[in-house]
Amino acid sequence: MFDFHMHSRVSFDGHDTGEALARAALAAGLKEICFTDHIDYDPLGAMPDMAFNTAVYNAEYDHLELPGLKIRRGFEFGLSRDNQAQFGKELQRRPFDFVLGSMHFVDDVDVYFEPFWKGRTVFQAERRYLEETLACVRAHNGFDVLAHLTYIAKCPSNPVPRPVPYGEHQEVIDEILRTLADKGKGLELNTSGMDRCGGFLPTEDYFRRFKELGGEIVTIGSDAHRCDRVGQYSGMACEILKNIFGYVCTFEDRKPVFHKL
Ligand SMILES: [Zn+2]
Ligand SMILES: [Zn+2]
Repeated sequence: MFDFHMHSRVSFDGHDTGEALARAALAAGLKEICFTDHIDYDPLGAMPDMAFNTAVYNAEYDHLELPGLKIRRGFEFGLSRDNQAQFGKELQRRPFDFVLGSMHFVDDVDVYFEPFWKGRTVFQAERRYLEETLACVRAHNGFDVLAHLTYIAKCPSNPVPRPVPYGEHQEVIDEILRTLADKGKGLELNTSGMDRCGGFLPTEDYFRRFKELGGEIVTIGSDAHRCDRVGQYSGMACEILKNIFGYVCTFEDRKPVFHKL
């Protein structure tokens, strides 16, 4: 019913127009969506520009309306330990409804690619990713919801794609969840891992623990970069959140709205 994480052609790695994604959302039975295009920076400058242009963003979405579908406007910011000031500037670009914080780069490289995995076991790669995630959620306050915790599980360079087992990293994961809960930040149920590693990012047990630790804000996102993935697995995701929280959140003007499930 809601999809609060998707990328149109406004993102460097997106493909479709905002209107095409919105029409796909309506066709999938969704009631409300949020565009969350990338603002990310490669610490080594090796990647092409990964931050959208605000004028392009505004031209794509400002006049986009579809009867029966609420359309929100947000962005996905790539967190690093020391880019708080940059984040502050991005938040001033224009009014946003929703801001995802996410972890793509660790030790100056995108964990999506092979160099991060060189010399690390899957366990070591997971642990390093989680440790850096903890450092970043401690260091940042600008985001509303942490996107795709355990994103590393679906990276194509991962030789053994698997949902990151909570039990193998319990201490660090608990600290991440506790930090989010204490700061009043949310946790995203990102459905894009299902086809890539056989589980959501993160899996159901993380959400049970998040609730135990006082977490209240939960959103669902497909992370669609193409129309055919909009709203993917949102029914399954809703069932999980219904059983644990009894609701799911959307955002408007940076404030959570709670929808009973
Ligand atoms: Zn992401
Ligand atoms: Zn994304």
